[in-house]
Amino acid sequence: MKTAIIGAGAAGCFCATILKRLCPEVQIDVYESGQKPLQKVAITGGGRCNLTNSFAEVKSLNQVYPRGYNLMKRLFKQFDNKSTMQWFENEGVKLTVQEDQCVFPQSQNAMEIVSTLLRGMQGTRIFCDQRVREVEPCLSSSTNDETIGNKNYKYRINTDSRSEIYDFVVVTTGGSPKSSGLSFLESLDLEIVEPVPSLFTFNIGNEKGRQAITELMGVVVEQAEAGLAGTKYKSEGPLLITHWGMSGPAILKLSSHAARWLAEKDYQATLCVNWLGGMKEDKIREMLQQAIAENSKKQIGTIHPITQRLWHYLLNKLEIAPDRRCAELGAKQINKLAATLSNDNYTISGQSRFKEEFVTCGGVSLSNIDTNTLECKKHPGIYFAGEILDVDAITGGFNLQAAWTMGYVVAQSIHAKKLINPIDN
Ligand SMILES: Cc1cc2nc3c(=O)[nH]c(=O)nc-3n(C[C@H](O)[C@H](O)[C@H](O)COP(=O)(O)OP(=O)(O)OC[C@H]3O[C@@H](n4cnc5c(N)ncnc54)[C@H](O)[C@@H]3O)c2cc1C
Repeated sequence: MKTAIIGAGAAGCFCATILKRLCPEVQIDVYESGQKPLQKVAITGGGRCNLTNSFAEVKSLNQVYPRGYNLMKRLFKQFDNKSTMQWFENEGVKLTVQEDQCVFPQSQNAMEIVSTLLRGMQGTRIFCDQRVREVEPCLSSSTNDETIGNKNYKYRINTDSRSEIYDFVVVTTGGSPKSSGLSFLESLDLEIVEPVPSLFTFNIGNEKGRQAITELMGVVVEQAEAGLAGTKYKSEGPLLITHWGMSGPAILKLSSHAARWLAEKDYQATLCVNWLGGMKEDKIREMLQQAIAENSKKQIGTIHPITQRLWHYLLNKLEIAPDRRCAELGAKQINKLAATLSNDNYTISGQSRFKEEFVTCGGVSLSNIDTNTLECKKHPGIYFAGEILDVDAITGGFNLQAAWTMGYVVAQSIHAKKLINPIDN
């Protein structure tokens, strides 16, 4: 039985490792377009590899998997974050769970994850510098496979210098910001969800005659709420003002949940920021009234409910001089301040990459696959795992977790199929 894995990334290499242990006799060939396997894993988490998450703060999977949460829920029954941690620990990788629930190797070195997987893959053949150009179905007339209608499905893999036939093919080529990245699958006639980027930061356009928010670069608001005007998209968390606009967990999460909507709008939208982590306007007004009453002789610039630089910026935006005495502020100005703290609007004028840590929203549609086995419905024997599928997550180790889970499930599915229907080695 011959298996080809296309893509030596997280999902492909984990699948190869698990499959090799389940069926050591199987010939596994891994095709990789890059010069080395696991090149992306080596740079994940800034070289530290945030390999999973404790999920302790995840109430529902749709919080962290904007696309594919139902699939992940189903697959986690077979292999979840705890299984992942257990697996790596059994391989001798000591892990640490950070306060923010992200899981890293204790060594803080992604290369430990890379070398663990490479060790697990021993006995597989890895062909680097081999971009797969085509996966071609070729039906043979063998009658030994009753489970798939008396037909033995086989597939030819073509690269520029190799052409070989396989019984099973696992496609794990990761995300691709353009659908042309999936052209090697053309002859399979699959349903594709137009790929668009996810996990990005927002460029904020400067308004004429106004101080630019980007002048506050480096300011961090520990708990902000960010939303998009005219939609239900909202997210909370730390927000960072950068020299091009806004970033930080609240923005990245928002970009992930609204990835497709923002792409459709060509990244032109209105960002609504609540600088007090979602506190209601009425509450903010009450808080301001109380602070002003208690500090009537002080200057308004000194009683900042948010970081001072940002407070002064907002006062400036509302044309309230920071050196005005609190007692001099009228109800109208207090109302304006409350409204701005709860819903401050900015014009998004584009997107920028976050430390190159983008992922792809879209790809091979989940309608093509059996959600228990990840096998292609149209082409038995072909499986998909990882970011190539229309599954992606926010930051925090959830994307790699999806890759491990799917890689594991595919290996088990191939193993199970082989047991039901042994194919000659
Ligand atoms: C800089 C960066 C940092 C990240 N950090 C984290 C993190 O800390 N935690 C986290 O959870 N997620 C992180 N992510 C996301 C995570 O790395 C991916 O979601 C994950 O690697 C997806 O795994 P995969 O196996 O599906 O794809 P990949 O790991 O991308 O692997 C796909 C492989 O297929 C190869 N390939 C593509 N096309 C072909 C072809 N036609 N023929 C042969 N080979 C091909 C590619 O070269 C690649 O090696 C990060 C992403 C980036 C870009």
